[in-house]
Amino acid sequence: MVKAIVGANWGDEGKGKITDMCASESDIVVRFQGGSNAGHTIINDKGKFALHQLPSGIFHENILNIIANGVALNIDYLMKEIKTVKDAGVNFKLLISERAQVLLPHHVLLDEYEEERLGDKKFGSTKSGIAPFYSDKYSKIGIQVWELYHKERLKEKLKGMYEKINVQFKYLYNKPEIDYNEVFDILCGYAESIKDNVADTAGILRKAIKEGKNILLEGQLGALKDTDHGIYPYVTSSSTLAGYAAVGAGVPPHEIKNIVVITKAYSSAVGEGPFVSEIFGEEADELRKRGGDAGEFGATTGRPRRVGFFDAVATRYGCEVQGATEVVMTCLDVLSYLDEIKVCTGYEVDGKEYKDFLTTEYLYQAKPIYTTLKGWNTNIRGIDSFDNLPKEAKDYVAFIEKELGVKISMVSNGPKRDEILIR
Ligand code: GDP
Repeated sequence: MVKAIVGANWGDEGKGKITDMCASESDIVVRFQGGSNAGHTIINDKGKFALHQLPSGIFHENILNIIANGVALNIDYLMKEIKTVKDAGVNFKLLISERAQVLLPHHVLLDEYEEERLGDKKFGSTKSGIAPFYSDKYSKIGIQVWELYHKERLKEKLKGMYEKINVQFKYLYNKPEIDYNEVFDILCGYAESIKDNVADTAGILRKAIKEGKNILLEGQLGALKDTDHGIYPYVTSSSTLAGYAAVGAGVPPHEIKNIVVITKAYSSAVGEGPFVSEIFGEEADELRKRGGDAGEFGATTGRPRRVGFFDAVATRYGCEVQGATEVVMTCLDVLSYLDEIKVCTGYEVDGKEYKDFLTTEYLYQAKPIYTTLKGWNTNIRGIDSFDNLPKEAKDYVAFIEKELGVKISMVSNGPKRDEILIR
């Protein structure tokens, strides 16, 4: 059985925790898109980890973890991450697709230089080199992992590549040029460091499906950051959808039977772009503070998260474009301090009400239409069954389920692995 775990919103929905939890029932956990630009925070018996490149199955020794074709592979970052988790006593199995593409030093620099050039008009990039990486990939000048092992060919390719890139560095950004020989040496080091992990992972996955293995496809960021369906241009440069998981991992689309979409009990976002139900000032500071790790800062950049009330319009859209078969709501405990909780159930633009998610400029103009529900105003951490939640908390979940039109199968009431309520 193939299951995808993906985000309904702007990312940071708590996918890492749910993936780590579901991983115990899986044989293989796969990262299929994105790079080190987003992180999962996982808290378990080994400690607290922010994973950016490694799949979330690494905490289960018997699971095979795969970094698949669609990923932006930052080998430098990966090696550092491997060291951190190994130092914490974690042992794992990891394979990297021979067709995954390698993030190169100029990608990170280009991200930085471009945000600097754009000034006020910047996109809020995490400066992990993701947009330049995918630009090169789709311009067909990128480097796949297998190319690292054909040295002469690699050197020739880099020479040609940097002739073009250096024009941009020198004349557009007024920055030092890059010596392709230095990049070649770096890549030779990369080749050596991952050589035991490289494999035809898509082939391995197809075989595993035939053998009836359980495969978990682990998404990064959320539907609203998808290049084609999100808040363009404030999106990421790869698809964050379960549909793309089939492509990025290399599994037949019809094999993905279960699409688990994660959403938080309130809304949060990192980076630029429209956010209709965003709140500000003291009200926002309080919610951020109550959110603890979930509310304060993005796992990758440490930037303060923007927060707001649950946006049911955006989340319903997120569930639809993901093709959700079930929804998991995280961070219900964070709202426990409120007497009343607002849910954004519509948008108003020019006096007209909308129930559907809109394109970016209309989202900027949209004002939230709220429905106010009663809060439960009591600590719900430590409660170990959904039925034992206060009535108002159960009503809140039921209200949102109705808005989304998809079953909420689990509710998370704390960051730890076992703080989960099956519904
Ligand atoms: P991801 O990228 O979707 O995995 O999300 P992140 O890991 O970046 O952010 C989610 C944050 O929420 C992490 O700090 C988690 O430890 C935390 N978290 C997950 N579920 C819960 C929950 O139910 N309650 C609380 N308070 N925190 C949670």
